[in-house]
Amino acid sequence: MNKKTLFEKIIDREIPAKIIYEDDLCIAIEDINPQAPIHILLIPKKPIEKFSDFKQDDKDLLAHLCFKVNEVASICNISDSFRININNGEEAGQEVFHLHIHILGGRKFSWPPG
Ligand code: AMP
Repeated sequence: MNKKTLFEKIIDREIPAKIIYEDDLCIAIEDINPQAPIHILLIPKKPIEKFSDFKQDDKDLLAHLCFKVNEVASICNISDSFRININNGEEAGQEVFHLHIHILGGRKFSWPPG
């Protein structure tokens, strides 16, 4: 049996987290080490390792997550301006290998990213 990912443990309530939103397909939690006044992780319950592992069969889930980004931003009162970020792979800064979308807001962001 495969070991659970950190985020599966959070989904299964084995590790505590501040839950902002949840439905059958995804959960949104506060990041434990926020990089902005608002920093949420939107996580599909299906433990896809990384963004580039998305399959054709996952396209409805991907669309669902896109809509939920906006809903979570609205819940957090950052609809007007926010940044979304997905780290895909170690070189890109991914540390938890269970796909998640960072939703950041509440401050000004610069470009290019570091
Ligand atoms: P990434 O580097 O894209 O894989 O992002 C992983 C994110 O998970 C980081 O921003 C961490 O701060 C966050 N994180 C790690 N452990 C927890 C936890 N127990 N609860 C909430 N967020 C976490």
